[in-house]
Amino acid sequence: MWLEILLKSSEPFPKVNSVSVPFLNLGAQHEPLRDELDAAIRKVIDANAFAGGPFVQEFEESFADYCGSPHAIGVGSGTDALWLALLALGIGPGDEVVTVPNTFIATTEAISFAGATPVFTDIETTTYNMDPARIEAAITPKTKAIIPVHLFGQMADMDPIMEIARARGLAVVEDASQSHGAAYKGRRAGTIGDAGCFSFYPGKNLGALGEAGAVVTSDEGLRDKIRCLRDHGQTRKYHHSMVGWNGRMDGIQGAALSVKLRHLETWNHLRRARAAEYRDQLRGLEGITLPVEAEGHRHVYHLFVIRLGRRDKLIHFLGERGIACGIHYPVPIHLTGAYQFMGLGSGSFPVAEQCTGEFVSLPMFPDLTSDQVREVTAGMRAFLQC
Ligand SMILES: *Cc1c(COP(=O)(O)O)cnc(C)c1O
Repeated sequence: MWLEILLKSSEPFPKVNSVSVPFLNLGAQHEPLRDELDAAIRKVIDANAFAGGPFVQEFEESFADYCGSPHAIGVGSGTDALWLALLALGIGPGDEVVTVPNTFIATTEAISFAGATPVFTDIETTTYNMDPARIEAAITPKTKAIIPVHLFGQMADMDPIMEIARARGLAVVEDASQSHGAAYKGRRAGTIGDAGCFSFYPGKNLGALGEAGAVVTSDEGLRDKIRCLRDHGQTRKYHHSMVGWNGRMDGIQGAALSVKLRHLETWNHLRRARAAEYRDQLRGLEGITLPVEAEGHRHVYHLFVIRLGRRDKLIHFLGERGIACGIHYPVPIHLTGAYQFMGLGSGSFPVAEQCTGEFVSLPMFPDLTSDQVREVTAGMRAFLQC
């Protein structure tokens, strides 16, 4: 009977495709590290050092070194990193924080949960990052900080951002969650503002085996305050000097991240190599905008994002060929249900809104092969011919 229904149905059989090019492949990343990761986890179990502790501290030191920052504070997630950095900077109710509408919602959640108000400013059409020329217009007497988001693996144009911030006495918190190891004029992501916030969500350029994050800073006062805040405001066990939170990094994550950090440079290098191949093979194709690596920047291609008008059709077309794409992000923050209360309608941030409607993230991860890149670009050429 079911067969009859299926055969009579006007709907075609749902096509079951095997994925030939996944969007991300964490299995391929972890397989060669399996023994090392197992040993690292075993050490944490043997030492009973599960919440914060020596394995987190060891990672903090090596991650600070990697970034070129004197201090790193391991926390529970990238969202915690942003929130605790804002709290430590004294940002709270009545304050405004300038950021971009095209980011992952964690950026504005951190502002909202600090009790402050996000104020959006539009982005550049070339890099999709905060447009320094528009920042001044978003600043009011209530503005206390700016959060540039280093989106897709490339840093925002930090010199003019810092200049505006310093002239106005504003703090700068870099959201570097997508830019581990990216650089701007020789300085790594997270080290230019007052604080740099990182996520080690598994899919990031440096990902934990669960949730984790970190703040880097060169300011000792800020470091101490974030350390205190992430640990229930304790300076000593059960001596609470402020109202804090449980924002500690998990010991197993610290140990796993120390293993994985040793490979981050190689992985970023591989991402850049595959990005160069995409670029070579897609150059000159009508109707496609390729990502731009701006002058003086080192892009680490957390995502390889192109723009084109018929975005949804392309994703469907490639999907049928077993190629998985993504959209980062389908709705700019001011148009999400969560921030509807701000009353910022469609047309408020035209560049961000237009880009949002055209973005396609192509498969990008360190173990992506050159053959897979060719398969994706062949698929795109076939799409553009029909
Ligand atoms: C991933 C991400 C975050 C949040 O990080 P979590 O570790 O998932 O909390 C914040 N901002 C941006 C831009 C991100 O990509």
